[in-house]
Amino acid sequence: MKTVLITGSTSGIGLGIAKEFAKEKYNIIFNGLETNGPQIAESIGKEYGIKTLYSPANMLKPEEIKAMIDLGINTFGSIDVLVNNAGIQFVAAVEDFPEDKWNAIIAINLTSAFHTTKHVWKKMKENKFGRIINIASAHGLVASEFKSAYVSAKHGLVGFTKTVALEGAPFNITANAICPGYVKTPLVEKQIADQAKTHGIPESEVVSKIMLEKQAVKEFVSIELLGKTAVFLASEQASTLTGTALPVDGGWNAQ
Ligand code: NAD
Repeated sequence: MKTVLITGSTSGIGLGIAKEFAKEKYNIIFNGLETNGPQIAESIGKEYGIKTLYSPANMLKPEEIKAMIDLGINTFGSIDVLVNNAGIQFVAAVEDFPEDKWNAIIAINLTSAFHTTKHVWKKMKENKFGRIINIASAHGLVASEFKSAYVSAKHGLVGFTKTVALEGAPFNITANAICPGYVKTPLVEKQIADQAKTHGIPESEVVSKIMLEKQAVKEFVSIELLGKTAVFLASEQASTLTGTALPVDGGWNAQ
């Protein structure tokens, strides 16, 4: 049975991805800051009849990231699939952008993926199997105003994905980025007030005028679709699908 580690999997997209891997009977290592993380891991384990583990490792802390990976490998023997999904957002004009928010976004949305990848690498190489899936964003491919840190981190994550795809190719380790458009999760709901303020429009207009304006399909991207995409990228058959940044964005990047 294969094992997947998904960072930030006690909420939103990460939790949805975990459910799709649960359907495929993977062992799952959950991670995230939500205080009910242990209960989420336990109840999904019971519901799907799979083994689960929860780690509260903070993606700002490299030593906690390493401890999480060591625990996962000691418990399950290997981590076959790594999904770097943990992320935060902050919306402000560059001249007002707080330094601490910039640093936290780069650390959580980009640098943590370096630390997790570094620590799973040796075992993946030994096993001649590894699948690294980075949850980037449409903002890994194009920019929007007032998201300087997020867009920088996500573009960086796409670059990191391509680099490790090249390094992993001789060892059957693939690396791909999924680039979602807007998905209705707590991360997006928390943004509505800030977007309204920064753009100078009422909150009721943010979804249609800012969020879905750029997507050709005027719907939020479904979490289930992202989960199924991740499961497909993790499959044995996807061994030559590597180094991509796959938009799942309702046509945003077609324009
Ligand atoms: P969310 O807020 O629902 O979930 C984020 C998860 O990351 C949570 O479990 C949270 O605890 C975890 N996390 C945050 N900081 C952490 C830290 N320091 N250490 C450990 N875990 C931490 O958000 P979401 O919308 O599900 O976002 C998941 C990923 O998808 C993010 O990388 C985000 O940038 C990306 N994304 C989201 C959207 C969207 O529209 N929601 C679009 C494109 C990409």
